[in-house]
Amino acid sequence: MSERLDDLRAFLGEATSPFHAVAALSRRLVDAGFKAVKQLDDLTFEAGQGYFVTANDSSIIAFRAGVGACEEGLRMIGAHTDSPNLSVKPNPLKKRLGTHQLAVDVYGGALLNPWFDRDLSLAGRVSFENSEGELESRLIDFQRPIAIIPSLAIHLDREANKNRSINPQTDILPLIAGLPTADGSSIDWAVLLADQVSAQYPEEGSVRILDFEMSLYDCQPAGLVGVDGAFLASARLDNLLSCHAGLLALLAADPAQWSLLVCNDHEEVGSTSAVGAQGPMLVDVLNSITGTAAASRRLRERSKMLSVDNAHAVHPNFSDRHDEAHGPLLNHGPVVKINRNQRYATSGEGSALLRLLAERAQVPLQHFVVRSDMGCGSTIGPITAAETGITTIDLGVPTLAMHSIRELAGTADVDYLGSLLTAFYNRVA
Ligand SMILES: [Zn+2]
Repeated sequence: MSERLDDLRAFLGEATSPFHAVAALSRRLVDAGFKAVKQLDDLTFEAGQGYFVTANDSSIIAFRAGVGACEEGLRMIGAHTDSPNLSVKPNPLKKRLGTHQLAVDVYGGALLNPWFDRDLSLAGRVSFENSEGELESRLIDFQRPIAIIPSLAIHLDREANKNRSINPQTDILPLIAGLPTADGSSIDWAVLLADQVSAQYPEEGSVRILDFEMSLYDCQPAGLVGVDGAFLASARLDNLLSCHAGLLALLAADPAQWSLLVCNDHEEVGSTSAVGAQGPMLVDVLNSITGTAAASRRLRERSKMLSVDNAHAVHPNFSDRHDEAHGPLLNHGPVVKINRNQRYATSGEGSALLRLLAERAQVPLQHFVVRSDMGCGSTIGPITAAETGITTIDLGVPTLAMHSIRELAGTADVDYLGSLLTAFYNRVA
């Protein structure tokens, strides 16, 4: 197995929420010598040195300063840290019929069926008053199965295999504990969170939970599937696979060149937020790097961005859902995503550049266009392009079961994407 695949699987296990994704990226950046900075203004950039900033603990921009000013333009890679999930509501605990259940909201366009009958855990960020009376936030992750959404047995729904639908308000509340019959005490949500803070951060002493952003995730780790290990099965491949590929490419990039990686939260809900791709984060960083708004605009005119987000592979059982000449195959290379109605940002010139880059990097490339009689998804590419004016190309690895709790990609594509992104940063074309 490639070292890249090994580290990707470890990263998928660490990045159980967007907050944890940013923490896992930050750790790897610090290990590689990048400096975490709070404020970029007035910083003198040292050639070859890497820097990174985070926002809301869930979006991150990392870049390496090249030799000389970056007027020639930056090479940038964009991805997103969030994935569809079940998010815990503010007043979540319900006692019902011998169980404690958690009230949850659906975040993003989750495929709900696969959430049933899985061992689930909880991760996210909690905000609390510490023992000194200060307001603080910390990331917590229970890292063990503490919740499950059992299916309704087929005996109680004979139509289950034909037309079972899922009501997100009533049908997907996970069970989180039993309910004692006699005088055993019920569980308390705030105490559960506070205990987890104490377990992970004993130095905090006793804390009073004030609020939280917690979501459920599948405990099953990323796995290789297939007698030849051709498939990588995991939660959150969309889009942590791309975050990870962008990170490794940035670390491997020629230190003489200016290169940047941006991983935003909130793509799955449209990117309109303070830290989403439609927010000011990227332009603010570019303004700080260049010093003036005019220089930032010139830089953006000369820069190029690869917006990396997973693409729909052709499903062998449902091949009619693709245009027959534009159906990407697993393990046949990254996919350039094209939509003339601008649901993807890729222009003909951008696609041509990528073709040249892929040839020189010896990476096979595929093309995706949605069927003319179907609507097209979108991603951070068109939003970033519209907000910044940067020439942007949308691409990603072919994926099956997108937005399922267990998605599927090809293991060969992980290496192909890595080689392509490194070649992009190194301006091989
Ligand atoms: Zn995505």
